[in-house]
Amino acid sequence: MNLITPFDPWQGNWCSCPEKYSLSAYTGCGHNCLYCYASSYIRNFSSPRPKKDFLKRLEKEVRKLPKNSFITIANSSDPYLPLEKELKLTQAGLKILKEYDLRIMIVTKSSLILRDLEILKSFKKIVVSVSFTTLRDALTKTLEPTACLPGKRLKAIKIISAHIPVVARFDPLIYPLNTGEIKKMVRELKNAGARQIITSTYKVKPDNFKRMVGSFPKYKAIWEKLYLKEGQRLGRYLYLPLTYRKQLIEKVRKISLEEGLGFSSCREGFNNLNTKNCDGSSLFPQGENN
Ligand code: SF4
Repeated sequence: MNLITPFDPWQGNWCSCPEKYSLSAYTGCGHNCLYCYASSYIRNFSSPRPKKDFLKRLEKEVRKLPKNSFITIANSSDPYLPLEKELKLTQAGLKILKEYDLRIMIVTKSSLILRDLEILKSFKKIVVSVSFTTLRDALTKTLEPTACLPGKRLKAIKIISAHIPVVARFDPLIYPLNTGEIKKMVRELKNAGARQIITSTYKVKPDNFKRMVGSFPKYKAIWEKLYLKEGQRLGRYLYLPLTYRKQLIEKVRKISLEEGLGFSSCREGFNNLNTKNCDGSSLFPQGENN
């Protein structure tokens, strides 16, 4: 199996991403986010491990990519897991990738990305995407137990955005857990230097729902009503009812536009509301192949 694989997580259902590839040095993820979708389809997901012969295989595969290919690092993991501190595979992979004409998007929840700032700055076409669900430390510790705290992520955006375009994912919106902080979140992200807000609503899968109600029993009844009884099924996911979903997405959009930011929603079916590409790729410098 190749390391660099075409990105198409939901066989195209509501995914409006441009053509791109996925790459990760690791299988699984140790951030243990309660709402994680990837945990349902990757074995031993919460025990991240390095991919076998990652650097050797990367050297070989990257040579075969067409010029200006777009690679996201990473989609079902975080390139800056605690494991990366000692293994430095993401760092070594970036050193290989920077020798090629590629568009690179780094997606992370970790301030460890700052360690590699000089390497990231050496890419001509790069965008960094930093994800948030809340600005509250206590809620972060429950929702994303081993990810770094929001203040550190904001600080990372501040430093990186002085050199590289940064988009922020406010993702997922979990009613009513974090939907009261939409205005504050968008403003903080803007003040930190993000240029686009990407958002989506929480989708229920059996394993993430079990974790969510286990940690937030007081919302069990409301989530059962909104998702299990009244929700919309799309593929293997249960979405909020359409009107609720649209209201939440429109609220994030309105505040983002008021703040002068780009906006997009991800896999919600509201592409008409987007002012930029859904994944932040409008921020790559425009070249002949873009
Ligand atoms: S950072 Fe992403 S991949 Fe890792 S556990 Fe959280 S949601 Fe899942």
